[in-house]
Amino acid sequence: MASTAAGENTLFITIDSCRVDTAVRAVTPALDRLGPLVVAETAGTFTLPAHWAFFSGFLPKPRNGEHFLGRYEQLWSHDCRAWKRSTYTVFETPTIVEHHVRSGYFTIGLGGVPFFDPAIPSSILPALFPSFRYRGERAGAPTTAIDADLPTRRPLPTERLGKFTEQLLRNEPFFGFVNFPETHFPYCTPGAGTLDDHTVDALREIGGHIYRRAALGEDSALWKEDRLQNVHKLQVRALEWVDRHLGPMFTALSGAARGTLVVVCADHGESFGEQRLVGHGNTSPEVLHVPLWAGHINR
Ligand SMILES: [Zn+2]
Repeated sequence: MASTAAGENTLFITIDSCRVDTAVRAVTPALDRLGPLVVAETAGTFTLPAHWAFFSGFLPKPRNGEHFLGRYEQLWSHDCRAWKRSTYTVFETPTIVEHHVRSGYFTIGLGGVPFFDPAIPSSILPALFPSFRYRGERAGAPTTAIDADLPTRRPLPTERLGKFTEQLLRNEPFFGFVNFPETHFPYCTPGAGTLDDHTVDALREIGGHIYRRAALGEDSALWKEDRLQNVHKLQVRALEWVDRHLGPMFTALSGAARGTLVVVCADHGESFGEQRLVGHGNTSPEVLHVPLWAGHINR
């Protein structure tokens, strides 16, 4: 058990709905510090099953046989499934979260999409953590309530990241988790500026389809004027917005008393019109393939 025996910190980050080609196109100097971008395959097509798999030991699996940290087939896994010599951390609890709680680590989460809202009685994901901060839309908020000013009024975890980082550093060793909804529909961050009318219309149209998972009609307005490509660009800008906030966080971690293992991945990808689909929850390659980075800071 290399990591826990060494008393190392762990930071696990999910960038919700972020596609592989979004990560390729975005300028991400902070994420690049962790190591090369790896294309991996997720076990879940939407937030709940994907995170349940990750916390249970099934992180996205690299598609081209790359090893985590250059050496390990898995970063963490339950001992009944792990081949211990090729797994970085082996745990004997139901989840990697509980493993760190029982091992005495300060364990806390911060999120983003409504599956992480502790105010919802059925939310099982935040309930895995002794403490969870939520900064995001309330479940059931209308997906078509889009206007030009959405980028500046959307509640986002990046606003809380500085305080969250201070809390982690005051309580080493820690297991910290962050779910960023910035890259999730409606893909808006303050970095996007004010939305133009075509983009507002496109997001409203996607919002009307996103949870019905029905194919777009040939007469959909989304096929006009590169609207879906422009929405995809919003996700690229959202990832760059997240990366700009991760830069100071990683710099702060470089001054921590202990080394920190940092794992960043998307929980699933997103369809932007391929096979006439938008959103996620489908089994297309754009949803099943996800970007992943893993590396150490201050080790
Ligand atoms: Zn998700």
